[in-house]
Amino acid sequence: MSTWRGEAGVLRAIKEPFSIEQVELLRLDPTRVVVKTHASPFCSTDVKNWKGLLYKIPPTILGHASIGEVVEVGSAVPESAGIRVGQRVVVPGTPECGHCYYCSIGEPWQCSELFDLGGIYPDIARGDDGALISCAGCVGGYAEYMSISGNQVFPIESDLPSDVLSMLGCGISTGVGSVFNIARVQPGESVAIVGAGHLGLWMLQAARLAGAGTVVVVEPHEGRRALAGELGADVLVDPGAPGAGGAAEGATEGAADALAAVRAATGGRGADVVLEAAGPAVSQSFSVQAARRAGRIVLTGFEIGGATLPLPQVETALQSRSILSSQNGQVHMKSDLQRYTGLLERGLLDPDPIITRRYPLAGLDLARDRSGTLDDVCGIIVFDH
Ligand SMILES: [Zn+2]
Ligand SMILES: [Zn+2]
Repeated sequence: MSTWRGEAGVLRAIKEPFSIEQVELLRLDPTRVVVKTHASPFCSTDVKNWKGLLYKIPPTILGHASIGEVVEVGSAVPESAGIRVGQRVVVPGTPECGHCYYCSIGEPWQCSELFDLGGIYPDIARGDDGALISCAGCVGGYAEYMSISGNQVFPIESDLPSDVLSMLGCGISTGVGSVFNIARVQPGESVAIVGAGHLGLWMLQAARLAGAGTVVVVEPHEGRRALAGELGADVLVDPGAPGAGGAAEGATEGAADALAAVRAATGGRGADVVLEAAGPAVSQSFSVQAARRAGRIVLTGFEIGGATLPLPQVETALQSRSILSSQNGQVHMKSDLQRYTGLLERGLLDPDPIITRRYPLAGLDLARDRSGTLDDVCGIIVFDH
């Protein structure tokens, strides 16, 4: 049993700068493994966590997706898991325990090991002041060492660098999985993507791979619209701007114009598939209305714990739209991970437009600020051991 001590970016208090400090992992539970972190994407969800909007309780280490190298394996981790010291592993935001109700019926993205914790995450480390520190989302990727359930590490074989592969655990699984596993986009179908951040831009690439017809991207940030254009979007819509022929200045009328623009680009009906990757409830209501009758809508975003979603009754109840929930893209990590890695390796998915910058752990506050201002599509926290 070794002692693992290293730097971590600890959320000590809501809305306060991250505390970059030395922590020591607690004695390893036999069901867990210790992973030396290579890279963790700074996810926009952690801007919300930092603001205290999603029930994460300090002191905690944020970062719910990561990649690294196994340095210790607990004695109760089964050999069949293929996890050994030195193995590179992806650490996604969702475990697959294999035996809970959800895993046993083939829906591991709702695994009880995470979602029946009641939002209370295990303490994994101790600060030099004696404080017990939890790992938010059971990952805690903004740290040099992670203590992770043996059910939440997945061996990966690839020559690609870890900063690219770190995105497999959140943005790629959710974005690409939403297209292939949930919406199941068919060749020629029209697709509208609401929000062109790190999820939306993966969705866009996956929709193109699936052979989508017209792809419309709705995004208020000019730079992100430009990236969507480079990645093959046919129609770019600014929901904050008055549309052609409109003189609206308010957001509501801008949204109405945006809705009209989506419909105009999709035969006047609305899109066959709408992929929402924005978060605000208004974006999700918009997404439902932007789909045609009997269309499919995949919702991935969330804004604040306890928020509710207003939906138009006729369009929702009477017009056969299917509203689908995406948690981790409904991926099966054990099978989908290596397939998505293959798409990256063959250049069919391009990470370059999505990785805006790389930061050392000391740059965690800067990464958060630039995620919050939308300047970064995705900043990657990289570790130089
Ligand atoms: Zn995320
Ligand atoms: Zn499970």
